[in-house]
Amino acid sequence: MKSYLVHEGDNLDALKSALSQTMPDELFLLRFHPGLSDEGRKVAIELLGKTTRQGCVVLDVMDRGTPVIHHPLISLIQQAGIPNLCVAMDLNPGPAQMGPFEALHHKHPRDRSQTGVDFEGIRGYFKDRFQVFPLVKFQEESQLDVLYPTLMVFADAGIRWVQLEPLFPNYDVAVKIKNTFKMLRMLQRTKLQIQFSYFLENRRVWNSKTDNLFSGPIKLDMDVSNTCTHNCTFCTYYSDAGMEENKKAHGGKLSPDRVKLLAAKLDTDRGMKFLKALPDSVEFIQFGGIGDPYTHPQIDDFIQVARNRGFTSSILTNFSYMDHARLDRLHRLAGPSGWELHYVVNLAASTGETYVKVRPNQTPATFEKVIRHIQYANRLHEADPTRRIGFTLLLVLNKYNFRDMVHFVSLAGELGVNQAWIKPMEIHSDIHKEQLPVGSELEEYKGLVMKSILLADRLGLKLHNRHLLQAMLNKETT
Ligand code: SF4
Repeated sequence: MKSYLVHEGDNLDALKSALSQTMPDELFLLRFHPGLSDEGRKVAIELLGKTTRQGCVVLDVMDRGTPVIHHPLISLIQQAGIPNLCVAMDLNPGPAQMGPFEALHHKHPRDRSQTGVDFEGIRGYFKDRFQVFPLVKFQEESQLDVLYPTLMVFADAGIRWVQLEPLFPNYDVAVKIKNTFKMLRMLQRTKLQIQFSYFLENRRVWNSKTDNLFSGPIKLDMDVSNTCTHNCTFCTYYSDAGMEENKKAHGGKLSPDRVKLLAAKLDTDRGMKFLKALPDSVEFIQFGGIGDPYTHPQIDDFIQVARNRGFTSSILTNFSYMDHARLDRLHRLAGPSGWELHYVVNLAASTGETYVKVRPNQTPATFEKVIRHIQYANRLHEADPTRRIGFTLLLVLNKYNFRDMVHFVSLAGELGVNQAWIKPMEIHSDIHKEQLPVGSELEEYKGLVMKSILLADRLGLKLHNRHLLQAMLNKETT
C-alpha cells in the first residue's frame, strides 16, 4: 500500500515517480493538501486512475463547504475508474457535518456513529460506485470518549477497514485508544481492520503504543511446496541421511506419512484466493515450504498476484529451476532496489566441486547454471535499471563447505547481490551433529568467519546476520 499527499505547487513529478513504482493492484491512497487548486486535484486524480486499478481518493466529508455526496470531484473520480473512496471526518465534530446529507436522505439512527456523520448513509449512497472507507481524525483527548461507540457502529455495520488519525502524540491519548481496542477485543469485534492513518509519519509507533492487534498482518510465510529434487546434506527431509533415518524406522521404506508430506503442494485455487483476499496491511510475503517453492507449477502466478498487489516478495529456493524466459517475466515484476522481488538462493557452496559435496545428486553444471542465471538477471537490470531482481546468497555452514566461506563472500561481491548470508547450521538431529566441523577444524572455521566478515566489510557487501556471526566469535573468545 502506498499513500501520497499532493501539495499546492507540486509539479506532480514526485507523484508520477511514486505512481511509477506502484503495482497495478496495489492500494494507493491519494490525498490533497487543503491549499491545492481544483486543477491540481483533477490532474492528480487522472494520473492515479491511469496508473493503478486500486486507487483510493481521500476527501473530507465536508470539502470546501460541499458535502462529499455532492462533490464535483466525485464524477471525475468515477470517470477515472478509481474504485475506492476514503471519507475523512472529525470525531464528534458537531452538527455542521451531518446536516447536508441527512437533509437528502432518510436517517438510520442506529447506524449513525458518534462522528456525527451518517457514514452508513454515505456508504449506501455510493454503493454502486465505490468501496467507501472512513478516516477518523481527532485532535483532543476529550474526543476519544466517542471513539469506542464509533468503532462499535463501524464494526456492526460490517465496515472492513477504518483509519484513525490522532493529530498529536500524547501518552493519555495512546492509553485511551489502547483501552478502546481492549474493549473491542472483549466484545469480539475483531473483524474490523483498524489502522493508524497512512499519512501519519509515526503510525508504527501508534500501533505499538496502543497494542493495535486490529492493524492486520504485515509479514507472512506462504508454504507452497514440500517437494524438492536436490538432496542437500543438511536438509532434514531430503538429505540421503534424512531419508535413510526415516526408512530405517519403517522397514526400509519411507513411511506413508512422510511420502504424503513430501508430495504436498498448495492447491492453486486456494493459494490464489488467499493472496487476493489478503488485507492491504500486508507488506512482505515469503514463499517457501519444506521443499523448493519452484517445484510448484504455478509459483510464478502466485508471485505475480503478490507483486501486483505491491507485496514485497521473497522466495527461498535453490534457483536451479530457472530459465531466461522465466527471468524475463519476473524482471517485469521487480522493483528498483532488488528487495521488492528477492530470491534467497540456497547455494551452499562457492564452487561446483563443493556444490556436489553438499548436493550429491547434482553436478557442477547445476552450480554453473545457477550462477549464469543470476548473471542474466543482472544483465536485465543493466538494460532496464528501473527494475532489479534481487538476491541473497545463502551458505549454510557444515564440514563440507565451511572452507568456501571467504570465496563465497568474494563470489557474492562479484555477482553484485544485495547481501550474503553465512548461516551456522541449526542442529535439529543427529544428521546435523555429524556435519559439524570438529577438532582442529573448529579453529579454522572461526578464523574463516572472521576473514569473511572483514572481506565483506572491505567489499561493502551486506552480511545478513553479521551481528550474529560477530557475537558468535566474541562468545568463543571470552
Ligand atoms: S534445496 Fe532446500 S529443500 Fe531442497 S534439498 Fe536442499 S535444503 Fe532441502
